[in-house]
Amino acid sequence: MGETSETGLLAQVPDGLYIAGEWRAARSGRTFGVTDPSTGEVVKEIADAAVEDGVAALDAACEAFPSWSRTPARERAELLRDAYDLIQERAEDLALLMTIEMGKPLAESMAEVRYGGEFLRWFSEEAAHVQGRYGSNPEGTGRMIVTQHPVGPCYLVTPWNFPLAMATRKIAPALAAGCTAVVKPASQTPLTTTLFVRLLADAGLPAGVVNVITTTSSGPVSEAVISDPRLRKLSFTGSTEVGQKLLAQAAAGVLRTSMELGGNAPFVVFEDADLDKAVDGALAAKFRNIGEACTAANRFIVHASLAEEFARRVTDRVREFRTGRGTEEGVTIGPLIDERAVDKADELVQDALANGARLRVGGGRIDRRGTFYEATVLSDVAAGSRILREEVFGPVLAITRFTDEDEAVRLANDTEFGLVSYVYTRDLARGQRMVERLETGMMGLNVGVVSNPAAPFGGWKLSGLGREGGAEGIHEYLQTKYTLTPDPFA
Ligand code: NAP
Repeated sequence: MGETSETGLLAQVPDGLYIAGEWRAARSGRTFGVTDPSTGEVVKEIADAAVEDGVAALDAACEAFPSWSRTPARERAELLRDAYDLIQERAEDLALLMTIEMGKPLAESMAEVRYGGEFLRWFSEEAAHVQGRYGSNPEGTGRMIVTQHPVGPCYLVTPWNFPLAMATRKIAPALAAGCTAVVKPASQTPLTTTLFVRLLADAGLPAGVVNVITTTSSGPVSEAVISDPRLRKLSFTGSTEVGQKLLAQAAAGVLRTSMELGGNAPFVVFEDADLDKAVDGALAAKFRNIGEACTAANRFIVHASLAEEFARRVTDRVREFRTGRGTEEGVTIGPLIDERAVDKADELVQDALANGARLRVGGGRIDRRGTFYEATVLSDVAAGSRILREEVFGPVLAITRFTDEDEAVRLANDTEFGLVSYVYTRDLARGQRMVERLETGMMGLNVGVVSNPAAPFGGWKLSGLGREGGAEGIHEYLQTKYTLTPDPFA
């Protein structure tokens, strides 16, 4: 893509807050710059919301709620389906925008557009399938009616690593359920969400149903919205640390919450695994999204009999990777999101090396403009190394060994997180035992990527609460009412 088309695309992205169906400047008139991590340059200035803008967005969501919640489900479904179609039409633009502001290679941005778009299609299908029940009470003295109702205005907070999919994964089920929303994208990647919401508006979204606030004051703005008694639901994707803070704030209003938080995924390769498939799966599980995924495999726990061969094969493949700006042909590893992310990856690598790990490839920053880190493979990583405890969120593959199944389970579960686990084995019974023994919300059994809009995505332990996607996803935005009436024949 040439510079002109990038400039033209950036010019099409609204630079205001979207409140009550209008693009507005922040009341203070303040703006902030969005940076391309591959160059460090500011690509666009957009409105920087303060507390009063957040409250205005919630006002709009509250005002729109009565009419949107009564809009027939079929109409809501059709709007979501139209938005899905518009995403397909604008797929290349959305992908390019994502690459510019987040850094991932264009092919991966395109994959996210497809994945993110699917939440609109999935929840357009779910919207009309929300059901209640009716029946006699056991005593026969009355009729019990159970109905589902939209929970109310929602606050949806998203991270920078999947700027489209994390937004559609929340907005689509909220709208399908009849809820209205205030959306707060990450300050590092607000442009993709903003363009997406413009598409929603083009699809006919009524004013106030979705409102977007972009801000560098996420703490105070969020606190004001979350503590407002009119808000009924908080859905957050991001770090466990921030999630815990927001959960504490949500406690005062006893808000419904969905929390998609950090991960520390184990990737276990048993001695009976198909090694070719395990290597393919490992590369996908580790290096997709430059390693900046909550589902990224963080600890490769490989049977001692295969560890050397596994390390050799993944290293050979990693040597073929090309690092660069995500718009360049053939690039497989883009920049990390910022300098802090590079520092973190490097700290964890240096700590592992100091503890005796063996460096197979990579292991350092790349001396060029932008925040690049080399795709890295470490083997023989010692117990106690930080990289086995902390989410690296970068292109670093760390291998450690085990000798029997109990040890593999112990190592895999030795984390406060429980988002996803990957297991490679040809032994069906062993695979089933692992499904039962691993403390994890999701599992890839002989596959390296599990995400699917039709599946319940979410974690155990400090990885979160609730599920996004699947039949479960819409229920995060619904509340149940039970009504009793007397026996009509009495
Ligand atoms: P983060 O720092 O927690 O930020 C996430 C969101 O919270 C952003 O919109 C951010 O806004 C906002 N935020 C930050 N501090 C806040 C505060 N004090 N009060 C209110 N809002 C605040 O996380 P991140 O670095 O963007 O994302 C990486 C993390 O997300 C990783 O841990 C990853 O595992 C997790 N993640 C989880 C899932 C999942 O589904 N489980 C999916 C993707 C990512 P600003 O941009 O303004 O800081």
